[in-house]
Amino acid sequence: MKVIGLIGGMSWESTAVYYKIINETVKDRLGGLSSAKILLYSLNFAEIEKLQREEKWAEATEVMRDAARRLEGGGADCLLICTNTMHKMASEVEGAVNIPLLHIADATAREIKKKKIERVALLGTKFTMEEDFYKGRLMEKYFLDVIIPPEEDRNIVNQVIYHELCLGKIREESRKEFRRIIEQLAGGGAEGVILGCTEISLLIKEQDSPVELFDTTAIHARAAVDFAL
Ligand code: GLU
Repeated sequence: MKVIGLIGGMSWESTAVYYKIINETVKDRLGGLSSAKILLYSLNFAEIEKLQREEKWAEATEVMRDAARRLEGGGADCLLICTNTMHKMASEVEGAVNIPLLHIADATAREIKKKKIERVALLGTKFTMEEDFYKGRLMEKYFLDVIIPPEEDRNIVNQVIYHELCLGKIREESRKEFRRIIEQLAGGGAEGVILGCTEISLLIKEQDSPVELFDTTAIHARAAVDFAL
């Protein structure tokens, strides 16, 4: 079994979910007392969020490259960045090490393709929804038609992520808002919705959506197990 390297802590609420799903998947596949070989480098999210907010991307990239090198040095055979947003600097992180980076958008796109879905909605932080590093990859590499909510709803989604989910707060009112947003996206032709922030699945489950959900946390975690085994 190969060693899975995780750059986590963004936030730790979702990194804990990665840890659980990776171990459960290994147990399902190998049985008995089997569990995953994992190296976790967990960052202080307060420092990361500040760099994001102040748009200090060069500094944030250095923190991520340093984390990647530490994991490689510790014996990781692959790398996962346990957040969609910080895939903004995925290619720089990849370039810092000689082990493969398992990209969250690639793993997700492959699942979407399997379901023959073409038009998909993307929910995530404002960075993920509005910038090109994520949507662009889905559109150019996988020919997916990606739609996002209108600005007002993007603000709601972003606010809930940083001020509730990353702090472990699950609020029924926010679930209602997400349901409404998802329904509108489905009404706009989305055949599926990417939960493109690793904390959204703490709030939203299959029953909250009329269309298929693609939970990036679970998809990415399972891709790590595929690699490791
Ligand atoms: N975990 C979130 C994501 O998947 C947001 C936290 C972050 O900004 O990294 O994008």
